[in-house]
Amino acid sequence: MAKVVYDCETCGACCYNPNDNRELEYIDYVEIEATDRIMRKPELVRRLVVLDKDLLPHMRLDHHHRCVALTGRLGVKVGCSIYHDRPSICRRFKAGSAKCRELRKERGVDR
Ligand code: SF4
Ligand code: SF4
Repeated sequence: MAKVVYDCETCGACCYNPNDNRELEYIDYVEIEATDRIMRKPELVRRLVVLDKDLLPHMRLDHHHRCVALTGRLGVKVGCSIYHDRPSICRRFKAGSAKCRELRKERGVDR
């Protein structure tokens, strides 16, 4: 069997709302910390940030449950349009971790 390469530029699975969130009808996924750079950029906040019911900021998702900052095609070629301003939680997420592998399977990047 071919070895899986955890290449984020051809994946994007963690930039989609996970299935367990969808089942619970949670549409808040990527949390943004108050100190994250994006919160100091009003134009990005206006376009990309939503508040949850507790008024905590999150990345906006589109109707496919995809972060609106994600560009390209899942599992083929993707990018983050705010890479240098992406939230801390995105920076901490580890390619090849158990959660990464789970999300890749959920989205069909890995079979
Ligand atoms: S799910 Fe893993 S491989 Fe895919 S973009 Fe996220 S960290 Fe990278
Ligand atoms: S901000 Fe960028 S890295 Fe974070 S979920 Fe959205 S597209 Fe992915």
